[in-house]
Amino acid sequence: MKALLSIDYTHDFIATDGALTTASAGQSIEEQMVQVTKAFIEQGDFVVFAIDAHQVEDHYHPENKLFPPHNLIGTKGQELYGALKQLYIQNQTNPQIYWLNKRHYSAFSGTDLDIRLRERNITELHLTGVCTDICILHTAVDAYNLNYKIVIHQNAVASFDPVGHQWALNHFQHTLGATIV
Ligand code: ZN
Repeated sequence: MKALLSIDYTHDFIATDGALTTASAGQSIEEQMVQVTKAFIEQGDFVVFAIDAHQVEDHYHPENKLFPPHNLIGTKGQELYGALKQLYIQNQTNPQIYWLNKRHYSAFSGTDLDIRLRERNITELHLTGVCTDICILHTAVDAYNLNYKIVIHQNAVASFDPVGHQWALNHFQHTLGATIV
């Protein structure tokens, strides 16, 4: 069984006025994100929206020193972006769609993702979203350590950093054994 992990395609990471935006790099994968997600929904596969979720007064969070506030819970910044948001809203009540708030880069860190996948006998994870070299990378590393098969949709991942993006694609393939499609 396979699942799609749709990572951090939110206003703050994609919109031109987002707090920590990938701007045109992130905006350029919108159509591909929607296409891949639609295909998984139509096939009845499990689709996880693994989304950064921060609180304003979270003094112990390591990201405080690294990034400005972003993806604050309950704000527009944490909402999905563009056509993917519409697709999510249309399918929100589908039991195969799961919204997963995450506090760290990896969708596995401090979440019940591994349990949700195992109870569905899912062994293959398809990754889309942003950033290729941050949240996609950290999620892929954890997936590798938990023995999942990894598939990266290269036209549905993006980063503000083109060098990091290329490096991560290479790392997925040659170090994590991922299939790049
Ligand atoms: Zn964050």
